[in-house]
Amino acid sequence: MDTYTYRIGENLYLNLTNRCSNRCTFCVRKGKETYEGHALWLKREPSAEEVIAEIGDASRYSEVVFCGFGEPTYRLDAMLQICDHVHGTGGKTRLNTNGHGSLINGFDIAPLLRGHLDGVNISLNAPTREEYDKICRPVHREGYAALLDFARALRREGVNCWFSVVDFIGEEKVALSRALAEEVGIPLRVREMIE
Ligand code: SF4
Repeated sequence: MDTYTYRIGENLYLNLTNRCSNRCTFCVRKGKETYEGHALWLKREPSAEEVIAEIGDASRYSEVVFCGFGEPTYRLDAMLQICDHVHGTGGKTRLNTNGHGSLINGFDIAPLLRGHLDGVNISLNAPTREEYDKICRPVHREGYAALLDFARALRREGVNCWFSVVDFIGEEKVALSRALAEEVGIPLRVREMIE
């Protein structure tokens, strides 16, 4: 059976789609259909109503996180509807994204995210386009530029956001990523590699 929501620690994670505009070499879904014991490869994308029914009272969780096996911004409308429910029941929302949301949807989605998302984690993954293309293998040639534009747009809109990189890229690239994050005007968080 498809898993639309799953709990890890105090958080509830939402799995709205398998679709993704990257093909990262380190993706946890590579060759797998499960993550942390949850069957996340969807046979069918859930409706907002189905996910909302599973969430129930969102105040039971520290955060409700759009994450899943794919890129959540493919489901922008459902995501916004779910955010309204989460906030309506006293919860907090976070989006984990590859930063391609505006590219995917064909317009600047940052203004819509303001007020809907309490935090946005943008996976930067690399400090240069060349490195990014090698690691993340974006479907769209302009993926990296779109990611940076998205971060700037979120900052302009006053949305709480930050870049993240995985520690395996090495200290030098982490330092370059930090400099890039400073240039864009948002923080950088360094995550541990998930096996
Ligand atoms: S952006 Fe995330 S879901 Fe998409 S391929 Fe990369 S790691 Fe996997």
